[in-house]
Amino acid sequence: MFLSFFGGTKFVTGANYLLETSNNKILIDCGLFQGKEEIVKKNFQPFPYDPKEIDAVIITHSHIDHIGRLPRLVKEGFSGPIFATPATLDLAKLMLEDELNIQKETLFSRKDLKRTFRLFRPVEYHKRTKIPNRLVFSDLSFKLLDAGHILGSAIVEVFVEGKKIIFSGDLGNSPTPLLRQTEFPSSGDYVLIESTYGDRNHPDLLKRKDLLEDTIEEVIGRGGVLMIPSFALERTQELLYEFNELVENHRIPKVSIFLDSPLAIDSIPIYKKYKRYYNKEASYILRSGDEIFEFPRLVFTKTIEQSKRIEAISGAKIIIAGSGMSTSGRILYHERRYLPDPKNCLLFVSYQAEGTRGRKIQDGAKEIEIFGEKIPVRAQIKSIEGYSAHADRNALFRWLYHIKSSALIKNEHTVKRVFVVQGEEKASESLSQLIKDHLGLEAEVPEYGQKVQL
Ligand SMILES: [Zn+2]
Repeated sequence: MFLSFFGGTKFVTGANYLLETSNNKILIDCGLFQGKEEIVKKNFQPFPYDPKEIDAVIITHSHIDHIGRLPRLVKEGFSGPIFATPATLDLAKLMLEDELNIQKETLFSRKDLKRTFRLFRPVEYHKRTKIPNRLVFSDLSFKLLDAGHILGSAIVEVFVEGKKIIFSGDLGNSPTPLLRQTEFPSSGDYVLIESTYGDRNHPDLLKRKDLLEDTIEEVIGRGGVLMIPSFALERTQELLYEFNELVENHRIPKVSIFLDSPLAIDSIPIYKKYKRYYNKEASYILRSGDEIFEFPRLVFTKTIEQSKRIEAISGAKIIIAGSGMSTSGRILYHERRYLPDPKNCLLFVSYQAEGTRGRKIQDGAKEIEIFGEKIPVRAQIKSIEGYSAHADRNALFRWLYHIKSSALIKNEHTVKRVFVVQGEEKASESLSQLIKDHLGLEAEVPEYGQKVQL
């Protein structure tokens, strides 16, 4: 059988892997390319395979760089099932609707989107599922494990021709406030492992909440505005979870906290619907009667009018808004308004990809362009890495070490080859080297379009 890499190759986004066996052709993820211009333009190039010939797609999670090209795949003839956990599919609907509304050049229409949703097939974690194909006989099946990355996120185990292939998707930064620990597959002949943080560790994991509290006290103390650009999924809900605790235990000053992200607001009912995926602590808090996403002075500003009124409220406040890398969304209005004042603070709590406005600010730009205007950056710029949704270098290594050693103990599906994907080249190469040196496994960083025989 053959595995081809059509995204997530020496860059983070656009995850898309084609597995061809004698009976089946399936895709794992079909994500949007984001970031640098030369990568983004791949979204408009023809698929390097015929979408009509694909039997099924398995989706690891609902981030747009893993699902964003699904409607285009359907538009170009794909008509098979799209498998993922029920939470992933619910969130994917929200994310793709949002993408339809914000896309600058047309990649897909509302009609394509509706046809895509009709192909959604929910599959629970740990349930082994057979993939149908056009022939009567199919020997390909898969299982989803909890990746602990965002709600519903999964690691995909594919079983075919007596072999087991693992697609890590994105791996979580366990322990996280809401989700369960990332699961360890018990073995795997071939492993694709993400590498967003393949060359770095998160220094703040255990002190992240204290750092957040300190930052709030410092900025609010001087009467400033604290802006937090945040991804609508997971990061925002995790922040609310932290704020819930900080507010209810009177650990931070009494100021309004605006959630200025329609997408994040719309995703909260889905978070409430899938409480069964929460970790023990979050479940316990819920059972004790506390609503995690409701607390004093938390204001949801869903409409544009409500959002505009935030500015009219003078004095200290906290604003959580998307997009997470300041590439679009309402955070831009707040940045334009508040970045020129040194009293204010822009706090990064998530990964800022190369080429994004967020990354430029984080790297110390003194001036930034927003809506064609040059805005001076005088506000304080801070980052807390501990809220990253991605496993760091040590955690990625541990995850792979676990697969290697448990496969050896069981003497089945011992790891033969590792493919390091979904990272910037430096991060992927660095993780690949670590795997070769310290796990003694064959590891490589695939090129875009590379096809390997398994
Ligand atoms: Zn992700």
